[in-house]
Amino acid sequence: MTTSPTAASPAYQELCSLARRSTALSSIGQLLNWDQETYMPPAGGAFRAEQSSLIAELHHKHATDKRVGDLIAACEQDRHLIANNAVAANMREFRRDYERLTKLPSDLVAELAKVGSQAQEVWKEAREKNDFNMFAPWLEKMFDLSRKKADCYGAPSGGERYDALLDEYEPGMTAREIESIFTPLRTRLTDLVQRVAKVGKHPDTAMLKHAIPADKQHAFGLMVLKAMKFDLDAGRLDVTTHPFCSGLAPGDTRLTTRYRDESFTDALYGTMHEAGHGLYEQGLPKVATREDLYGQPLAESISLGIHESQSRMWENLVGRSREFWTWALPLAKKEYGSALGNVDLNDMYKAVNTVKPSLIRVEADEGTYNMHVMVRFEMERALLSGAMKVKDVPAEWNRRYKDYLGIDVPDNRRGCLQDVHWSFGLIGYFPTYTLGNLYAAQFWETIVQQIPDLKAQISRGEFGALREWLREKIHKHGKHYRADELCKNITGKALSADPLLRYLEGKVKDVYGV
Ligand code: ZN
Repeated sequence: MTTSPTAASPAYQELCSLARRSTALSSIGQLLNWDQETYMPPAGGAFRAEQSSLIAELHHKHATDKRVGDLIAACEQDRHLIANNAVAANMREFRRDYERLTKLPSDLVAELAKVGSQAQEVWKEAREKNDFNMFAPWLEKMFDLSRKKADCYGAPSGGERYDALLDEYEPGMTAREIESIFTPLRTRLTDLVQRVAKVGKHPDTAMLKHAIPADKQHAFGLMVLKAMKFDLDAGRLDVTTHPFCSGLAPGDTRLTTRYRDESFTDALYGTMHEAGHGLYEQGLPKVATREDLYGQPLAESISLGIHESQSRMWENLVGRSREFWTWALPLAKKEYGSALGNVDLNDMYKAVNTVKPSLIRVEADEGTYNMHVMVRFEMERALLSGAMKVKDVPAEWNRRYKDYLGIDVPDNRRGCLQDVHWSFGLIGYFPTYTLGNLYAAQFWETIVQQIPDLKAQISRGEFGALREWLREKIHKHGKHYRADELCKNITGKALSADPLLRYLEGKVKDVYGV
């Protein structure tokens, strides 16, 4: 009888059990956060900050313990163990996480958390008052601290500071690679947006603006989640100000959405987006039949870009398709009654696919969304390197909006003060939104070849084959592959802007005829 390499290595077993404890600690932090965003009474906020920072501190201490480092080193020496591909992938990620966490001095971690939480409060007020000068010194502080953080991590050879931060969200990706993908994307999207603008006439969207009560919207959202095969026995859907998904434990994936009376597709697309994230979380091998991998990198998602590819695929490639509405419109009419009385499939399809430059990223359509991301990527990269000064942020922001989207930014509230990210140090995060769109479109071209009757299935509300495909090709592998490897394994090619452009150009032709 042969013994498996993992069973023969007490060091590896101890390492996995310590990783399990670290992950359990961080999941407690996530649970506290989910509660804060959903049900916690406002007066609980002050003590919740104390609870959350205690858990964060315990997690950091546990994950950077010298014992963890010793075990990693011991396992790396064990040739028999490392010969196993799955173990090698786990070890690669254990090493990477340990290195990153231990490179940051704990006083910098504490300062980032403290200044970040103060800056976020100032940002809220500054945005409310449309006062950039009030926020500017805090933005300066957050970029200073982020520079320090990037220098602790260190840039890859031949790379730049920005890469060190980006690596936290999209491992292995560099600013230069992103630039090489974004540049052709921007040129062709600008052209697309200009062509649409010349048409001068947009689809009628009045039918999306009927007031529909939140409880009816909720029931409809749950029906769609069930069709998508999101497991509601292992998940929930709740209401919050900013929708998110928390895959907080095995058997426990929580989605949130928000309901606006005057636009039912807002909540629907928010729910489908978060459910795309949720299906990824539910598909990770956190509780496997043969071996429980919880806490190991093999049971974690690859990157934010890949995570976002799952959400954007369900929200846009599925949810804004003619086939989806073939199935969903009669059901929406049944649920919402007279509000959707005369709307036909074509009206609905066109209304949810309008392309119109706008000021706010989170409300942007598929055709213009990525331009919002590019503005932020270019600016944060320049701010981090020192090529741009904080005082020039509003003017630089407005200039780019005019240049890329052809619109004037009337005030900073709807301009450079609209996003929360920079206020708490999420720098290097924005590009992952566009990477998600790019991965989604590239995967989709392969999916429609491999599931030939997918469109027919979607028009019948059958999403099982799509979910299984995603589970087999992406979800069940956890972090076994890096994002670029996964992309090549699935599509045979490196990530490129072409599939997304083909998709968007096709859509615009269909909706606007240009
Ligand atoms: Zn998302």
